[in-house]
Formats: sequence, structure tokens, C-alpha cells
Amino acid sequence: LLQLSVPLNFIGFVYREIRQGLTDIEQMFDLLEVEAEVVDKPDAQPLQIRQGALAFRDVHFSYDPERPILKGISFEVPAGKTVAIVGPSGAGKSTISRLLYRFYDVQAGAITIDGQDIRGVTQKSLRAVIGMVPQDTVLFNDTIAYNIRYGRPGATEDEVTAAAEVAQIGTFIESLPHGYDTMVGERGLKLSGGEKQRVAIARTILKAPPILILDEATSALDTTTEHEIQAALDVVSKNRTTLVIAHRLSTVINADEIIVLRDGGIAERGTHADLLAQDGLYASMWNRQREATQAEEQLRKVRESD
Ligand code: ADP
Ligand code: MG
Repeated sequence: LLQLSVPLNFIGFVYREIRQGLTDIEQMFDLLEVEAEVVDKPDAQPLQIRQGALAFRDVHFSYDPERPILKGISFEVPAGKTVAIVGPSGAGKSTISRLLYRFYDVQAGAITIDGQDIRGVTQKSLRAVIGMVPQDTVLFNDTIAYNIRYGRPGATEDEVTAAAEVAQIGTFIESLPHGYDTMVGERGLKLSGGEKQRVAIARTILKAPPILILDEATSALDTTTEHEIQAALDVVSKNRTTLVIAHRLSTVINADEIIVLRDGGIAERGTHADLLAQDGLYASMWNRQREATQAEEQLRKVRESD
């Protein structure tokens, strides 16, 4: 019995290590809410990326046939431009990003990159040109350096540090006793939502993809963190084709086009100024958020004067 318990413990140890490896992959999938449904066509070709122009053409999609989520969505993101998707929770915003990353295939219509239907290209080549900063980043149980370098495994130490600086997380990392070698994730240092998001931004800066998808955090970040993250996002999205899913409308003012999604359709579209002039759904969302921000500010002032 005694003899047996040792190897069994050892097997348990190995099993746990393997499980951990699986957990990393599972987390990666979880964070992107993936079900591995899509397979490459036998004749799939690598995507030929030129400028990185993106188009949704009359896209229909549902997770469940009973309940359509996107009911004929068309828009373009010209190369290097930024398009923002806004709208109520549950409208289908994150679904748009999942379709672009091809976790699911559209049921009618098409998504194209530089004129190529993404259903005809390999998933590997598609995902290589897209950088995704998700709403809720799950980190690998490894060092901060590993988590950043994941964006481009061949990157040098200096490149990792530079990406962290641009993402406004460098100073924080250097203040840690083990710096870039600090273990993070479930078994390591727990980072705040804003810190994790900046690690994801650093990773994306390192990847330097032609196309970017940013799904902004809904959680109420404090104003300083929000400004820091916004500054980091502005740097990454500069001159890149960017699709930004925005919860805080203050971050979409400068988008080339804003699309207001409601009930699976495009309710309104235009620039910030166009949409305010229309005085519709966007304008009312804008006014509501502005009032909320003002109330927050007043509350803070009252607290500070105490
Ligand atoms: P948003 O990002 O605008 O808040 P989503 O695109 O995440 O909305 O979701 C749109 C709708 O699709 C929601 O009603 C949501 O409940 C539903 N949905 C999202 N993911 C799934 C899924 N994997 N299976 C079934 N329904 C889903
Ligand atoms: Mg969402």
C-alpha cells in the first residue's frame, strides 16, 4: 500500500500539472466565449492581407434558430479607420466581434477582409491579423513577462518592456518585488481589472496586428485608470483598422463612424455630431451618461470637502 501511494501521488501531481496546462487553454477559450464550432474548409487559403479593410455585408446570425441576434447588419471599416459599435446590453455587440474572429460562422451574408470572405481562409491566418482586447482578460498562470510576450513569442526583453510602457503598466510592474518575473493568474498575484486589461493591451501592442477589436470594460473603473487605459488604446488603434465596442460613449467621440445597434439591427449611424443632431437613441444614451458622470463628480466633490 505504502509503495503504491508514492507513484499515485506522483501521478496526481503530473495530472494536476497537465490539468493546469489545459486550464490555460480552457481559460483562453472561456474568455473569448468560444465553442470550437468552426472548422477550416479543405481548400482554405491563407488570408492575403493588404490594407486590412473590413466589411460586414447583410450579416444574419443566431445562436439558437428560435431567436435571431443579428438581422442583416452591413457596415464597413475602411483600412486604418475606427468604427464604434454602441447599444444596449444584449444588442449583439460582442457577437459581432466573435463572428469577426470566426468563433461562429454567419448564417447569411458575409464578412470580408480585403475582399476575401473569412469563411474561405484558414482560421490561423485570420487570427494572426486580428488583435483582440476582450472585456474581461484572463491571464495565464505564469509570469507577467510571459503573459505580455504571448502576443509575439519571439519578442526580446526590451520589446516586452517597451510594450508595457506604452500600455501604461510598466511603472506598476517595475514596482513589484519580482518585476516582470512576478507570477500572476489564479496562483499568483491577483491583478485588478484595469491592470489585467493593460496587460492585454501590452500583449496586443507587441502583436501589432493590422486589425484590432476592443471590447471595453463595463465595470466602473476609476477616472484615472480609465484615462490611462484610453491613452493606451489610442496608441494601439492609431492607423489600424479598429472595431471598438464601447460602453462609455466618451471614448467614441472621435470614431470615424458610430453604429447604434438595437434588437439585432442598426438603429442609427453616423459621427458623434451627426447622432447628437438626430436626437434619437444615441443622443438619449449620451445625455443619460453625461448626467451620471456629473452626479458622480458632484458626489466626489462632496466627499472631498468632508
Ligand atoms: P452585447 O455584447 O451587445 O451585450 P452579445 O452579443 O454578447 O450582446 O449577446 C447578444 C445576445 O445573444 C444576448 O441576448 C445573449 O444572451 C445572447 N447570447 C450570447 N452568447 C450566446 C451563446 N453562446 N448562446 C446563446 N445565446 C447567446
Ligand atoms: Mg458584450
